[in-house]
Amino acid sequence: MREYDLLVDGETLSRSETATVRDPSSNQPVASIALADESDVASAVAAADSAFEEWRTVDPVTRGHHLRDVADELRARKTEIAERHTEETGRSLSDSARSVEYAAEYFEYYAGLTHRITGETVPLSHEEFDYTRREPLGVTGHIIPWNSPLLLGSRSIAPALACGNTVVAKPAQLAPMAVHELGRAASDAGLPDGVLNIVSGRGSTAGEALVTNDRISELTFTGSKAVGLHIRESVSDRLIPLNLELGGKSPNIVFADADQEAAAEGAVKLFNNAGQSCYAGTRLFVADGIYDEFIDRVVSRVEAMNVQRDPNETDVSALISPSAQSEVASYVDSAREAGGSISAGGRIPFEEGNFYEPTVIEDVPDDAAVSCEEIFGPVLTVYRFDSEREVVERANDTEYGLYAGVWTSDLDRANRIADHLEAGTVTVNNYASPIPQVPFPAYKQSGIGSEYATAALHHYTKVKNVRMSVDRTLR
Ligand code: NAD
Repeated sequence: MREYDLLVDGETLSRSETATVRDPSSNQPVASIALADESDVASAVAAADSAFEEWRTVDPVTRGHHLRDVADELRARKTEIAERHTEETGRSLSDSARSVEYAAEYFEYYAGLTHRITGETVPLSHEEFDYTRREPLGVTGHIIPWNSPLLLGSRSIAPALACGNTVVAKPAQLAPMAVHELGRAASDAGLPDGVLNIVSGRGSTAGEALVTNDRISELTFTGSKAVGLHIRESVSDRLIPLNLELGGKSPNIVFADADQEAAAEGAVKLFNNAGQSCYAGTRLFVADGIYDEFIDRVVSRVEAMNVQRDPNETDVSALISPSAQSEVASYVDSAREAGGSISAGGRIPFEEGNFYEPTVIEDVPDDAAVSCEEIFGPVLTVYRFDSEREVVERANDTEYGLYAGVWTSDLDRANRIADHLEAGTVTVNNYASPIPQVPFPAYKQSGIGSEYATAALHHYTKVKNVRMSVDRTLR
């Protein structure tokens, strides 16, 4: 059993209250993790607050060097961190190594932007001069989910630090190790004490304590809509910027003129990380003219997927917990009851671990639970459509609006559909994953605020306007 302590002000703090982290592919214990209580969180925020006084004055180029050093340290420890990431998420080592690489890329990307956090000069009269600066906010709180903990932690921590803020991060209880490894890597890379603090713990204690701490100046939460709404309520008496990165039920639309091979590959991307991705294309809409042929392509790909206990051998990894597995199973049962036909999968393949077969469901009504609610598992529901107007209406008929895919060889059509889809990102002819250099906005109930790209630099800073009288008379 590995042990992870809290990281507060550069010190590791063990705690008598701990939780066990389990490997999702076996449910065997892999680590014991310290659980922070309210006073630990308060200490972490106080440490971050003190560290802010110094960190905010570090010049942008030096700040950039610090972030680049973190990226280098993550890469130097890639194998070790990937092993921890695999143990806690059940994903393959190669997938985990990619997560470490992506995390390093976030630090590197924002390292390159520290000197681009600029203000503007505003022309006024001859006697007045006006300029703006982008100033850091202070202590930023980051609440991180389990589904891709290192990448999702890094995507908000890196820009927050780049802007001169300090950080208190709370990883999810189910998968906290990789975020702790990030904390260790950052400390060893020379990030000053107190600039990045990690307080693992329960949502109901450590999470609540972070949200309600009135010394935090910003909060970034990635997780479920239910908790996101609760957090918005909890901070409603304070005017702090919020990033809420919530769920999705994204449509993936295949027109008759699409490259079917490419679109089928794009459709089965849903099964990466066992469907536990906020932006996954969970609702597949297929044009009537190619429906049967296209579904055959998808189903044959899914049937060729091998579910095995070994995370490095399986094509579809385990779900995070036994309760996530039973939730997926009950969604599939509800689809059967709603008249859906299971074209592939639909079963728990074996007793050990939290695996579920990659599943394709056809003929479910648009208002069935599997069509409307985020399943967060390896379940693809498929729908037949006739016209652009019809498919746009049905694709938009969801409370979420995070991502969408369109497959067509007609550029005009791609732009028309993108124009009408209510989604923060529309991908055309490639269900591409989010990357640091493009924004990842959310529509509707998928969130507020903005991660990624230069939008994050605006989120993690506030504008100060300086307006001064100028005496231009020579003496
Ligand atoms: P969750 O909401 O249960 O937990 C997320 C985090 O919030 C965890 O760290 C948890 O401990 C903490 N938390 C729980 N209750 C809290 C409270 N009362 N106060 C403060 N913190 C609290 O979500 P999850 O199950 O870990 O993650 C899955 C969800 O995350 C899905 O809905 C998925 O779509 C969403 N997600 C969204 C994005 C995005 O970028 N939009 C990315 C990944 C995951």
